Amino acid sequence: MKNRISISISPQVKNQFGPEISWVWRVLLTSIGAAWKEVNGDSSEGIIFYGDSSQHENSKFRLSIPFHKNLWHDRHNLRLEKLSHLQNIPIPLFVKKPTSKKLFSSECDRLICHHDLVFYSFWFMTRLEEKQWSKNKHGFYDLSSSNWLQEEVLFKAPVTAIARAVKQWLTSLDFAPFVPDWPQGKKAAVGLSHDIDYPEVKRLIEPFRIISKRGMKGIPPALAILNGKKNHWHFNRWMELENRYDAKSAFYFSAKKGSLIKYALGTPDPFYDITQKRFKNLFRLIKSNNSEIGLHTSYNAYQSIDQIKIEKELLENCCNNEVIGNRHHYWHCDSNNLDATLLAHEAVGFKYDSSIGHEKYMGWRGGHALPYFPYIEGKNRSLKTLQVSPTWMDDHLFNYLKENLFDRKKALSQIADTVISQGGMIIIDIHNYVYDSFLYPEWKKTYEWFISFLFEKGSIWLTTPGEIAIHWIKRYNSIIDMSQGLSEGIK
Ligand SMILES: [Zn+2]
Repeated sequence: MKNRISISISPQVKNQFGPEISWVWRVLLTSIGAAWKEVNGDSSEGIIFYGDSSQHENSKFRLSIPFHKNLWHDRHNLRLEKLSHLQNIPIPLFVKKPTSKKLFSSECDRLICHHDLVFYSFWFMTRLEEKQWSKNKHGFYDLSSSNWLQEEVLFKAPVTAIARAVKQWLTSLDFAPFVPDWPQGKKAAVGLSHDIDYPEVKRLIEPFRIISKRGMKGIPPALAILNGKKNHWHFNRWMELENRYDAKSAFYFSAKKGSLIKYALGTPDPFYDITQKRFKNLFRLIKSNNSEIGLHTSYNAYQSIDQIKIEKELLENCCNNEVIGNRHHYWHCDSNNLDATLLAHEAVGFKYDSSIGHEKYMGWRGGHALPYFPYIEGKNRSLKTLQVSPTWMDDHLFNYLKENLFDRKKALSQIADTVISQGGMIIIDIHNYVYDSFLYPEWKKTYEWFISFLFEKGSIWLTTPGEIAIHWIKRYNSIIDMSQGLSEGIK
């Protein structure tokens, strides 16, 4: 039994991609809860070796993974052809890049891998193929010209599958112990959250909105809105619903008040004002329920670090609490340079962000169903703000159902199966106003069905994204403290 994995990266490989490779190994090893010690290639205690094919064939290490130079050098031009399931691990095959049909061979007491699992992890998590796809007016990608939908990549979290495979191999090599993934012996985690876009109805426009959505049937609720008997102030109801499943959620509030005119001119910020007394009372209520208050950064806030800072500080003043987490309204980030938005999160001191998802497609955009510190290619380092990617937003299974397996329960069961088998994480994003079952039939019901389904499994931690982030950062730091090496690209 060994307490730390001894790992060697060949110097030739390190000279070319040192920070990238160290980052991937940090993500993979912390994902599985293994501490490490970096050693040189002739070490007698070596467990994992990563280097180019000629060296790795000769290595004495117990698990050898090859560095595939042609993939690393061509990383910005690769297109996914398909996912090939080798030993149940979704392995990407790239267009015009022939590869081995075998995942590994065993030789005496050594395992020799034939695929560059480190590169695959890097390629998925840095979302390199995206830059070749077309975008809509909000800057969101259209995946229909790629093979990602047909291969169901977003549902499979291939990076998490690779990490789990490494864990299995290490276990077979008698390595132990691993730091547990989740607290209280839980096997997977689900973070619940609500984007607060429209908590107070506009009494002059809401009745028309209802009638245009539901026709004549909308007249009674439209009148109820006019009389002030109906609204979208559902906070207590959401918390009561979640408390029934021993679950807590985060509420992300916008700290910038928009207007109808700005909305009409293309800046669709929410209309409410968090400095009002009713919000101060609401913040007290949310805190007394141990739920989380996070920032819903305004539509164009990503353009200015100062603007994000102003919004964060205003919310902190109003709720009298530190705000550790963020999600952009419309998930609207810099579509030409997402890394710039991620760097802005770090600059204002968020502990985590939860915005890196696809508008129309559910699943794990970076291929990893666990929190991770993203890599910033332009800076050759990892970010200090954790990414806790949103997995399912309500609208994915309503207006975009055909993009998501055509079937709500099938899509939700599939992401649940993935995290249960991999010990991963799902982040759910449900808008506050969909509590209204008249305007949004089936929306709340689908959410409740899913959390009751997860609750009944008994082994899933249903909590806020903030609690998940705090746990993960603490766990990550404890593993780093036990480890030595693989430190290139840490700020
Ligand atoms: Zn929003």
